[in-house]
Amino acid sequence: MTTTKKMESVLVKLSNHEIIQKGDRAVRSRHELAIEILDCLVEIEGRSIFLEEGHSSLFDFCVRRWHYSPPKAGRFIAAARCTKSFPAVRNLLSRRKITLCGVSRIAGILTKENSDRILQEVSGKKFVEIEKIVASLKIAPKTRESIRPIGLQEPAVGRDRSADHEDLFRPNRTLENYQIDSNLTDDQADQSGGDSPIERPMEKPEHRYEIRFSASEEFCRDLERAKRVCSRSWNLEAIMGRAIKDLLEKRDPERKEARRRKREAGKKSKLRSQSPSKPATMSGVKAATDMKSSGKRVQAPPARSRHIPAQLRDAVFTRDKGRCTYTSSLGMQCDSIAHLQIDHITPFCLGGEHSLKNLRLLCGKHNRLAAREMSLTKR
Ligand SMILES: [Zn+2]
Repeated sequence: MTTTKKMESVLVKLSNHEIIQKGDRAVRSRHELAIEILDCLVEIEGRSIFLEEGHSSLFDFCVRRWHYSPPKAGRFIAAARCTKSFPAVRNLLSRRKITLCGVSRIAGILTKENSDRILQEVSGKKFVEIEKIVASLKIAPKTRESIRPIGLQEPAVGRDRSADHEDLFRPNRTLENYQIDSNLTDDQADQSGGDSPIERPMEKPEHRYEIRFSASEEFCRDLERAKRVCSRSWNLEAIMGRAIKDLLEKRDPERKEARRRKREAGKKSKLRSQSPSKPATMSGVKAATDMKSSGKRVQAPPARSRHIPAQLRDAVFTRDKGRCTYTSSLGMQCDSIAHLQIDHITPFCLGGEHSLKNLRLLCGKHNRLAAREMSLTKR
């Protein structure tokens, strides 16, 4: 008999009162276990244990090691930090005067000045009541940035997709700029905006994602301005998409390297087409030799520089696939693709050279950990 079936046969024999009592005990022990997990998280973060285990953050540790969903990981981490900063919160939790969700809700607004008052207000309250109290304080909660898949979208046949987003800007529109916008015809807007939005033919269902982040007033003003200087057919996705493409065109190491290769190939083919008797350029070594023999002053070789040539940086980025290469002793590789830094495996100060073999990508946290480990081995 399976464990579930055994449990069902036991439950069937219990009275209603006994089942309620059993459920109460389970909820109580679950609550106590949650507090134990918070205590562990405080310690794991305090000692940076997650870094040694190959995780870029406590959040990544919860998601990848404990298989927590991102919202659950966020709740536990917020609550754990809150109990560390405000021991009274842990006291409320252990007396079951507040839930873990309630703690994560107030975590972002507690300060030394207001904590006594707010904790008194939320003690013993339901979650919905806590939400009202937090909203009444008018402090914007921190929004965790997220990108999550939400499903497939059917092809839009003969439908203007931008219409779906037409109202996105309405809540923030002032009467003045709404009128200015309304006076523009599509043609005029096209002329002022120049090019058209990114074309995305929808022949088959495509995956769609929901992106969340909070933004400043300045960002919203710029976005509103971008909307006004573009054609009305540009929705929010089109505007952000073009801005991101422009940024990648300037800063993506892979694209820069591809452009560099193309330029070099172009130069080589140009040289080949020129007369072989007249070399177009003089090599550095030949130039130096000629200058020496002619008695001209020879420049000293440049001092050793920390500067890593852009071409080499881009090659390291491409080889490491734009991801932190730190790997724990158990083979867990950090999956951070943000805040990446170029690290010398043999440190520059110990004679480490700028070479593809001696360079690697590390996230900031693992770069600092590697530096700490290196200083320990030197002792
Ligand atoms: Zn890392």
